[in-house]
Amino acid sequence: MTDGRVPPASPNRHIAARPAWRCRVCAAPWPCQPAKLQLRREFAHDHVALAIYLCLRMYDAIADELQLRSGAVDPAAYFGRFIGWTRPWRQGSSAAPGLAGAGEQAAPPQEVEHIEQRDQEQHDAG
Ligand SMILES: [Zn+2]
Repeated sequence: MTDGRVPPASPNRHIAARPAWRCRVCAAPWPCQPAKLQLRREFAHDHVALAIYLCLRMYDAIADELQLRSGAVDPAAYFGRFIGWTRPWRQGSSAAPGLAGAGEQAAPPQEVEHIEQRDQEQHDAG
């Protein structure tokens, strides 16, 4: 998938059921792990489009949450759940993004530089 569009839903596709934002297949909070894998494959060549797509979904989820419950939402938790896991680095970190739960912190700049260098080395090797 190179044009950034999401293919039509199939019965086995892990998509969100609104307004609860739980997966229609496995009932986990969306995006569940299979959904993350699907999205990573579909947006493998366009991480920015993936982040934008998930940002829109996060916006919808927050709007739904505010409509269902008038209480406050935790923006950091939503960021970690919807967008934080899309960061390109995963290997070698103490906790895989998206698996450690919500509210993850962004890596400090020197760590990002190290990770980008490592990813480039892996890319060159592969
Ligand atoms: Zn699922």
